Amino acid sequence: MRATRVLEALPANTPFIGPERLMREGGLRELVRLGANESAFGPSPRAVAAMSGELERLSWYGDPDSYELRETLAARNGCTIDQILVACGIDDLMGLVVRAFVEIGGVAIAARGTYPTFAYHVAGYGGRLETAPYTDAGEPDLEALSALAHQLHASVAYLANPDNPSGTFISGERIAAFYESLPVGTLLLLDEAYADFAEQELLLEPRFEDRLIRARTFSKAYGLAGARIGYTLTTAHNVERFERIRLQYGVNRNAQIGALAALEDEAHLAWVVRETAAARDAYAELARGVGMTVLPSRANFICIDIGDARRATRVMNALLERGVWIRKPGAPPLDRCIRVTAGTPPMREAFARALRDVLREIA
Ligand SMILES: *Cc1c(COP(=O)(O)O)cnc(C)c1O
Repeated sequence: MRATRVLEALPANTPFIGPERLMREGGLRELVRLGANESAFGPSPRAVAAMSGELERLSWYGDPDSYELRETLAARNGCTIDQILVACGIDDLMGLVVRAFVEIGGVAIAARGTYPTFAYHVAGYGGRLETAPYTDAGEPDLEALSALAHQLHASVAYLANPDNPSGTFISGERIAAFYESLPVGTLLLLDEAYADFAEQELLLEPRFEDRLIRARTFSKAYGLAGARIGYTLTTAHNVERFERIRLQYGVNRNAQIGALAALEDEAHLAWVVRETAAARDAYAELARGVGMTVLPSRANFICIDIGDARRATRVMNALLERGVWIRKPGAPPLDRCIRVTAGTPPMREAFARALRDVLREIA
C-alpha cells in the first residue's frame, strides 16, 4: 500500500527535536530551557486563573468561531471580526496558507534557514521552497527575496519580522516597500510571532489586502505556547477561504479562554517585554565579557556570534551536557551563532556559568 506521491517523496524529517527527547536521550533530569523561545516569565496570572476556573467544562468543545476572542482582537487591531482567523498557533496557520495558496509543484520562497515550519508545510503539500541567504548583518535579504519571487513566480513569500533565528527587525516602512516590490501573484505571509516585543509604532501599518497575511501568536510574549493559539490579520475574503479547510474544532477551548484573559492583562505583557529586554542586555554584556558580539535583536532571544559553525555546534552540545538547552541557526551565514532565549535572572546565571565553563574547556 503506497501513500500519496507527495508523501512518499518526503524525506523523514523532524523539524524540531523537543527538549523532552533530549533529556530522555541524554539521561538529563533537569534542563534550563532556553532553546524554544518560550516565555521564561510565564503566562498572565489572570490567564491561568481563567483557564483553571473553566477546567471542569473541558467536556465542552470550544466555540468553533472563537467569537469572543476575535471580537477583542478586532477591537485591538482596528479591524472587523471577519478579518481574523484563530487557529492552533502560527504553525497551524502556515499550513492553511500553504494549502490554500501553493499548488503542488508551485514555488514558495523564504530566507535560507529561517523558522522551519513554513518549509515543512511547503514540502508536505507538495510545493517547492526556494531560498535566499541572509545578509551578513543577519537580516533576511529583501532584495534577493523579491528578485527570487519575480524569477520563479512564487505564490507565497514567507518573512518573519522580528526574524527567527536572527532576532533582527525590519521597520514597517521597509516591509511595506518589500511587499510592494513583490509580483502581483505573490502573497506575503508576514510572521509576527515576536511583534509584541518590538516598538509598536515601528511595525507595518494596518493593511488588509488579499496578498497580505499577518500571523500573530499567544505563544511568545503572552507565554501560552503550550495552549497552542494564534491568529491572522488579513481580509475577510482570505478568512472565508480558510474557513473551507480549517479544522473547525481545532482550537482548544481553554486556549481561547486563556488568550482572552491574557489580552486583558496589559501590565503583565508590559512586564514581560521589559524583562525580555533586560535579558537581552544581560546576554549582550555576557558576550562582550567573553570577547564575542551579538546580533541586534527585537525578539525574546538573541544570537551570540561564536565565530564559526563548528565551534557554535560544539558550544551548543557542550551546554546541553551541562543541562542548558539552547539552539543554533542551521544555515550560513548565521550558523556561526548560537541562539539563546531570554531567561529569568537565575536562568541567565546558569547559562552564563555554563558558557564560561564551555569556552574555557574548548579554548
Ligand atoms: C515560535 C514561532 C512560531 C510558532 O508559533 P505558534 O503560534 O506557537 O505555532 C511561529 N513563527 C516563528 C517565527 C516562531 O519563532
